[in-house]
Amino acid sequence: MLVLKTAHLKGLDQFMAGLRQRNPHETEFHQAVEEVVESVMPWYLQHEEYRKARILERVVEPDRVLSFRVTWETDDGDIEVNRGWRIQFNHTLGPYKGGLRFHPTVDQSVLKFLAFEQIFKNSLTGLPMGGAKGGANFEPKGRSDREVMRFCQSFMSELHRHIGEDVDIPAGDIGVGSREISYLFAQYMRMQNRWAGVITGKSLAYGGSAVRTEATGYGCVYFCENMLNHVGSSLSGKTVAISGSGNVAIYAAEKALQMGAKVVTLSDSGGFVFIKDGLNEAQLKFVRQLKEQRRGRISEFAERYKAVEFHPSARPWGVNCQIAMPCATQNELDAKDAKTLCGNGVMAVSEGANMPLTAEAAHLFAERKVLHAPGKASNAGGVAVSGLEQSQNSQRISWPREEVDRRLQTIMFEIHQQCIQHGAEIGHVDYVTGANIAGFKKVADTMLAYGVV
Ligand code: NDP
Repeated sequence: MLVLKTAHLKGLDQFMAGLRQRNPHETEFHQAVEEVVESVMPWYLQHEEYRKARILERVVEPDRVLSFRVTWETDDGDIEVNRGWRIQFNHTLGPYKGGLRFHPTVDQSVLKFLAFEQIFKNSLTGLPMGGAKGGANFEPKGRSDREVMRFCQSFMSELHRHIGEDVDIPAGDIGVGSREISYLFAQYMRMQNRWAGVITGKSLAYGGSAVRTEATGYGCVYFCENMLNHVGSSLSGKTVAISGSGNVAIYAAEKALQMGAKVVTLSDSGGFVFIKDGLNEAQLKFVRQLKEQRRGRISEFAERYKAVEFHPSARPWGVNCQIAMPCATQNELDAKDAKTLCGNGVMAVSEGANMPLTAEAAHLFAERKVLHAPGKASNAGGVAVSGLEQSQNSQRISWPREEVDRRLQTIMFEIHQQCIQHGAEIGHVDYVTGANIAGFKKVADTMLAYGVV
């Protein structure tokens, strides 16, 4: 046992040293790879066929990294230049699939971490999708609709030649919601002179799927309910802290309310709101309008409701809660936050965002045996319904809302089962290990079957 553990640590250290050397300065990418390799290494070392085929070395090398200039004009006639990317990481299981992020913090490291995660997330859904991610270091906040439109048109003028309904199908992510998807899709049609289901997250009027907007947040809550049911509990009556107030956070809050939980926080990059009595439906409607239509700040929510407190420049993890759902961005919950949450008796952490925990925070939850669902499992509902949108587009049909929601619930249940299958320990499920091994195994087996390519 000790010999195996030493071999595992040595293997991990050597592997990570090589990866860091080959990909200098890409810290988010290193973090995402280490999290996966740390979980799969003991299992990987027992499988000579994978080692001989160098599956790990191959899977961390993207198929290709596309980077391009995006030039556009402001309303005042100034010329702006941004950088756009599409990382087509791995298409072993199907056409490349993954969102586009527009945010000033976007760089190659962030997109490589997201694309890498996406490979295993997509594998867990059971749908035929490879892993990709893209975006630009563009800040849509504070820009007019026309400026965002011109940016999207310029971005797609290059991207269109690299995507296609059987090649690569982007979707939204931070800063890319239904407004941006519409501009991007229209430009694709203009460049190609054809309608194709080449982007998901489209509006219902032109080929979108029911429940796609809600899918990531709803799926995160369904996954959490599965984890709680597995230990004989449920969300009903639990106090939930949510971070973010974008697409994922809003629909996680909506589903948590529907399931009888009490949601006590939401946030944005300006701070968090504490809703002592729990968010109610009227308040949720207000937040949706504030964020989706007016693109306002979460502080305005506290200005509107006297019982809601605003805490500027702070994160919500100090609030008493049994369930934490980080739904904003990467590394938004660190070891100090994790200690505070454990001290306050947190039972479960269900990640809506991608890699929202620092490595130290994740290790702390593992030591304390807190139920911790990694994003590649708990936020897979978004890409799963994107996959269903592709199926509907291919067949030129659209399924009713109940049908899509039923399929989403089944997919989240099955992801949970896969995590148990590969992560069960005596009296506890290690969801991080379970998700990583289950996601990795399918990709590795298929790569073996393909031979040396
Ligand atoms: P949105 O752009 O709709 O919302 C993002 C939210 O996070 C906003 O409230 C934003 O606040 C906040 N936020 C962003 N960056 C920071 C930061 N540095 N510090 C504090 N708050 C921040 O994005 P989504 O809701 O779509 O995405 C949220 C997360 O979920 C991301 O990690 C994304 O990758 C992940 N995800 C999304 C999926 C989807 O279907 N949309 C699918 C799977 C995962 P502000 O407005 O002030 O910037």
